[in-house]
Amino acid sequence: MSDAPTRSTQDWQAADAAHYLHPFTDFKALAAKGSRVIAKADNIYLWDTDGNKILDAMSGLWCVNVGYGRRELIDAATRQMTELPFYNSFFQTATKPAIELAELLAEVTPPQFRHVFFSGSGSEGNDTVVRMVRRYWDVLGQPGRQVIISRRNAYHGSTMAGASLGGMSGMHAQGGLPIPGIVHIEQPFWHELGRDIGRAEFGLKAARWLEEKILEVGTDKVAAFIGEPVQGAGGVIVPPETYWPEIQRICDKYHVLLVSDEVICGFGRTGEWFGCERFGFRPDLMTFAKGVTSGYVPLGGVMVGTRIASALIDRGGEFNHGYTYSGHPVACAVALANIRLLQREGIVETVRDDTGPYLAQQFAALAGHPLVGEVQTCGLMGALQFVKDKTSGAPFPTELELGMVCRAHCFGNGLIMRAVGDRMIVAPPLVITRAQIDEMMALVRRCLDLTLADAVRHGWV
Ligand SMILES: *Cc1c(COP(=O)(O)O)cnc(C)c1O
Repeated sequence: MSDAPTRSTQDWQAADAAHYLHPFTDFKALAAKGSRVIAKADNIYLWDTDGNKILDAMSGLWCVNVGYGRRELIDAATRQMTELPFYNSFFQTATKPAIELAELLAEVTPPQFRHVFFSGSGSEGNDTVVRMVRRYWDVLGQPGRQVIISRRNAYHGSTMAGASLGGMSGMHAQGGLPIPGIVHIEQPFWHELGRDIGRAEFGLKAARWLEEKILEVGTDKVAAFIGEPVQGAGGVIVPPETYWPEIQRICDKYHVLLVSDEVICGFGRTGEWFGCERFGFRPDLMTFAKGVTSGYVPLGGVMVGTRIASALIDRGGEFNHGYTYSGHPVACAVALANIRLLQREGIVETVRDDTGPYLAQQFAALAGHPLVGEVQTCGLMGALQFVKDKTSGAPFPTELELGMVCRAHCFGNGLIMRAVGDRMIVAPPLVITRAQIDEMMALVRRCLDLTLADAVRHGWV
């Protein structure tokens, strides 16, 4: 290997294009263009190999919640690496950080959660969910309950089970997905599906699609329903307040397990510790990853509610499932440091009481922008929906790829904001200050105006 600092950006890009297949990427197109190589980071900022400073309004990939460069996490990893870099939890062994983290998770999660099963990622966590809910119904003597209901445009990861639970048509189109026993209902996206009625009424209507699906599949065949409290990768789709309580009522009525995928919403993103607390429902299982370690090292898992834990512990015998890195001691040590930092600095409360409401106010002010139809925020997540006609909400033709036009301006102006179709989304680190939100909003406005200028020039508006 050559000496890293002496390599030019072009050199990095050439080696990247020659050998590295990136996730969710058109390999050929990227190789022609060259990737942006990120070299270092601090707080909410990144620097690329050309020395450009970039404001990371996506927290890496929704995960660097405490910001980059936090000593507490680095020291925890270093200490644990030195003392015990790895040991597994398979054969009646455990490690101190894994035990301590299980204990702390039981403390910070809602009261029905006393147990955790660790994985290495969110996708793996959702694979565990599939195995566990089916195992639960077996143990209870109802092996006919196998079907898991999910939603269109959900994101639950990229493994076979994760991508099947997810409702992304592009992912289902490759590799023969979804796997059997997973069915989908429509998403609670008012802007797309409910503009003819009020948000509250639409929330109830969208929840009742679950009831219809349960009755269609058969009440003795449905094992669980899974959803993200707020759909993240789907475009920061914040459901109406009426949605989740009605979902809870329906799951209770038909004894269907309720699974909250908290991989994005967990650990403060919504202004509460967990999204289910923000939206007022009580899941039986809760998947987590990303924010549990602020992304410094990979870790995921599933919080297991007492109803399921008791059945599996008392009557289940051996659960034939687990990962080499379940309860990885370094990952668990970093998670401990991360959660203690969230607690010590009151970061979740700051999002709830100060920076979250401030972001909401700043985003609301963009509703008047000529391109923007719907504006939504929840905690420190925000979405701006581009529309061609502000009154009717009519979209731009998809082939214009206006979201990608805007994203290119963000790229050129030192801002990482993501495009999901024509929906621009942000999810900055939870430690972002008001002044930094102002700085981010100035960049957002500049990029929206540049996008508008393009649209005007091309005669799209
Ligand atoms: C990112 C994500 C996942 C997948 O997590 P990985 O760690 O990428 O496997 C699952 N669910 C949700 C809601 C996510 O945002």
